[in-house]
Amino acid sequence: MCGIVGYTGTRQAYPVILKGLKRLEYRGYDSSGVALLKDGKLNVYKKKGKVADLEETMIGKVLDAHVGIGHTRWATHGEPSDRNAHPHSSASGKLAMIHNGIIENYALIKQELLNKGYTFTSDTDTEVLLNFIEDIQKNNNSTLEEALRIALKRVSGAYCILLIEQDNPDTIIAARKGSPLVIGIGKGEHFLASDASPIIEYTKEVVYVNDYELAIVKPDELILKNLGNEKITPYITKLDMELAAIEKGGYDHFMLKEIFEQPSTIFDCLRGRLDAKEGTIRMSGIDHNIDQLMNANRIMILACGTSWHAGLAAEYIIEELCRIPVEVEYASEFRYRNPIVNKGDVIIAISQSGETADTLVALEKAKENGAFIFGVVNAVGSSIARISNAGAYTHAGPEIGVASTKAFTGQLAVLMMMALSIAKHKGTVSHERYHSLLLELEEVPEKINAILKNASALKVIAEKYKGASDFLFLGRGYNFPIALEGALKLKEISYIHAEGYPAAEMKHGPIALVDENLPVVFIATKDAYHEKIVSNMQEIKARKGKIISIITEGDTTSTELSNDYFAIPPADELIAPILTVIPLQLLSYYVGTAKGVDVDKPRNLAKSVTVE
Ligand code: GLU
Repeated sequence: MCGIVGYTGTRQAYPVILKGLKRLEYRGYDSSGVALLKDGKLNVYKKKGKVADLEETMIGKVLDAHVGIGHTRWATHGEPSDRNAHPHSSASGKLAMIHNGIIENYALIKQELLNKGYTFTSDTDTEVLLNFIEDIQKNNNSTLEEALRIALKRVSGAYCILLIEQDNPDTIIAARKGSPLVIGIGKGEHFLASDASPIIEYTKEVVYVNDYELAIVKPDELILKNLGNEKITPYITKLDMELAAIEKGGYDHFMLKEIFEQPSTIFDCLRGRLDAKEGTIRMSGIDHNIDQLMNANRIMILACGTSWHAGLAAEYIIEELCRIPVEVEYASEFRYRNPIVNKGDVIIAISQSGETADTLVALEKAKENGAFIFGVVNAVGSSIARISNAGAYTHAGPEIGVASTKAFTGQLAVLMMMALSIAKHKGTVSHERYHSLLLELEEVPEKINAILKNASALKVIAEKYKGASDFLFLGRGYNFPIALEGALKLKEISYIHAEGYPAAEMKHGPIALVDENLPVVFIATKDAYHEKIVSNMQEIKARKGKIISIITEGDTTSTELSNDYFAIPPADELIAPILTVIPLQLLSYYVGTAKGVDVDKPRNLAKSVTVE
């Protein structure tokens, strides 16, 4: 959560920071602010609301500076307000700091500082850490860097912080643990940010800072150290991302752009890996570890949110194809209970950002117990990608819309290839089925294109039901996780209460909600469960619920029962989830926009949840 940007160099810092904050706004948008340093003077400006609100208040302000830091907040400690916005200034006014994360033992440190007579102007954990650093600096008569090192040894929690100091005119000091930090290396300038999107238009050379590292950044110099004050050689990598990938490209919203990108993101995900004609899947993370994977006693999938739904779909697919027992866990639950993880267990971690705090910590725990970690991640070079023993990227490109779309279908495609690959090596799938699934997978981009061509039909349906206060999403088998995902999407971007349920389970409770005002979305494509789900539709119809169904082209039984329907091209039941989710993404998008919700930045949410 939260986006941070820093700049030191020859350019004007403010425009670089402002643009960067706009790119990082998907990470949080409760408030934003900047601190600019010029001629020994620190100017701090901040404002509740989106970055555009800050921009407005900056008109007429002193903006001339070549060093600065900026923050867009996702509040954890203290309500979204001007006074809780970052950057925070230290008690003496000499330091300014921005922070992404949570200082867990802040209350204890705050009490110590209160006892010493400190006062606080915000409710944040950040201001406590900042004054703690300044207090150490004063007491020990030490440099900022030394004081920071001492302070960080005392704090628990997660942080990425950037600090500037009045008397240190061109330096930014940064540190991270648990929250991401990338440093872009320019000519006589450096850029610091939570991800590469604010950096990409200036330089492609970047250093990903690791946990427990400190960076001392000047225009011409980048020094990395560990908390023990030993220097570390920065490892420079090249970004292979284009600026166009993080811009809207003519669409009204990133979410819509990302939904429409899915034919090409799935194509990119399969490209060079799957060859249906040859009957091969080549993925180095799988091929190099195939013994470990196919001989797993058990596979545990750890994820949160939409990624958890991809994990649930993978459970059905892997058990069917590979005959390996699979468990799917919320990472946030796994990490706090006492789970049984043994050598020989394989953990699949799924995360778009690769920075999801709960998933990261859960993985560290599983790794300690000897499990083999396989990461399914979208953001290249992210923390989860780095701590995994092996993995496969989803190659969906940067996903900016807060509600995940293309990353989800990318996860499904990767997990499907993984299951097919393991099943082939294990001999648990027939030759014919393997080949037909490969062919079907290859056809997915084309079928998504066909679905997208009819997007306007979903807009009409959305208009009709946008006034509903609740929705029910029902699916069976491979489409049950898609019912959960459809409900989540609608909640996220339209603020309509929605529940996803296995269609048969509906009789054990949710059916009590059904009346003529309740829209019920059925994912009822032609598969082994089709007759059963048609009976469930009858049950809803008998109680006057409004049926919206996602069906297979040519299925007239379902159309007769439905108030509204959307047909998708025929597909094998294992492949269908990658297709059935697309109309649900569009339905949510159109309901959200019809209700006037800012669908790229829905309230209270942030894209990558880097706090627990
Ligand atoms: N814990 C800090 C706050 O609530 C930082 C939150 C963030 O990562 O944006 O201000």
